[in-house]
Amino acid sequence: MLVVQKYGGTSVRDLERIGNVARKAIAYKEKGNDMIVVVSAMSGETDRLLNLAHGIAAFPDEREVDVLISTGEQVTSALLAMTLKSMGYDAVSVLGCQVRIITDSSFGKARINDIEKEKILQELRAGKIVIVPGFQGVDEEGNITTLGRGGSDTTAVALAAGLKADLCEIYTDVDGVYTTDPNICDKARRLDKISYDEMLEMASLGAKVLQIRSVEFAKKYNVPILVKSSLVEGQGTLVCREEDMMSMEKVVVSGVTYSKNEAKVTVNKVPDKPGIAAKIFTAVSEANIVVDIIVQNISHANTTDITFTVAKADAKKAYKMMEGMAKEIGADSVSVDEDIAKVSIVGLGMVSHAGIASKMFSVLSAEGINIEAITTSEIKISCVIAKKYGELAVQALHKAFGLDREDVKEEN
Ligand code: ASP
Ligand code: MG
Repeated sequence: MLVVQKYGGTSVRDLERIGNVARKAIAYKEKGNDMIVVVSAMSGETDRLLNLAHGIAAFPDEREVDVLISTGEQVTSALLAMTLKSMGYDAVSVLGCQVRIITDSSFGKARINDIEKEKILQELRAGKIVIVPGFQGVDEEGNITTLGRGGSDTTAVALAAGLKADLCEIYTDVDGVYTTDPNICDKARRLDKISYDEMLEMASLGAKVLQIRSVEFAKKYNVPILVKSSLVEGQGTLVCREEDMMSMEKVVVSGVTYSKNEAKVTVNKVPDKPGIAAKIFTAVSEANIVVDIIVQNISHANTTDITFTVAKADAKKAYKMMEGMAKEIGADSVSVDEDIAKVSIVGLGMVSHAGIASKMFSVLSAEGINIEAITTSEIKISCVIAKKYGELAVQALHKAFGLDREDVKEEN
């Protein structure tokens, strides 16, 4: 079998942990597998390097930033190769520009276009454990590029797809994908399996186990990903096609997610006539601000309120812009609320079940929680609520949709 394993920053944070990674890779190698190991930088290293760059300029040169931050992965690759050799196993590090993981030239968020296979295959044939630093690639001109934060996941999945690996394991500091954040709800359960689409929704809603792009990649090339902990034994969570979930008990909702990173902007008493929404959101998008939820009220006396949510980091900018916009279009006023939370339920079963939305709203209302905005997709429903009720909402929804772990005793 050809196995691709990826180890995240906490799994390689010091020499002791790198030794642990080496032993895990060796155990697979000993079973007769060909091994490719993708590593992240030591935890905190990418941030440290970015801080250095930002100590020089607010917007440091993007090409040079990639030269800088790609070094974190290079360090752990070399250390892991040395460790394996010291344990008596042949290993070799092959950098992104040596494999030739070819990307476009968008520094800091490059996309992989192609992976040349020959170098890696040659080293595997020579019996070596091949170490590939995650996160880095090279563009057609030979410039070093990086794949965006968390990009080592994508390196691993892309290698697994390109080399047709039999198994792609992503080792991290949690033992799988959970029904919700265990820090918020102690009854959260590890899922045995989750579909690509559910994982994409969960990832975009703030569950940070895998880089979103790696899941998109896995879906496109049908690479099942096994998410596991490098520190505790366990079977992990398999991220796979919906078709491969069939054996699972049919659950309607697979997970509850929670995000506090958004803010809500409302433009009050907007004249209700064609072109106003277009005007508002063209301005917002031209400022490169990503909008999530949009709500427009029914109009009264020819005016309406338009509310939208943006990342908290963009709230001030959006507010300022809307103040100018309100004057221009003759709206009454603008308000901003940063104390909001977004709770969402995600599940493939929603497509075929009626009454999921009404159940969600009833659960929230039974807790006395007011819903300020709602958005839905085929397999997701999100509600914006006051931030102080966020954790309560997660716990109530988790229970109501039957996700609570049974082995945790009810308190009281
Ligand atoms: N080291 C990079 C980061 O911190 C990439 C990764 O770890 O996946 O974002
Ligand atoms: Mg990660």
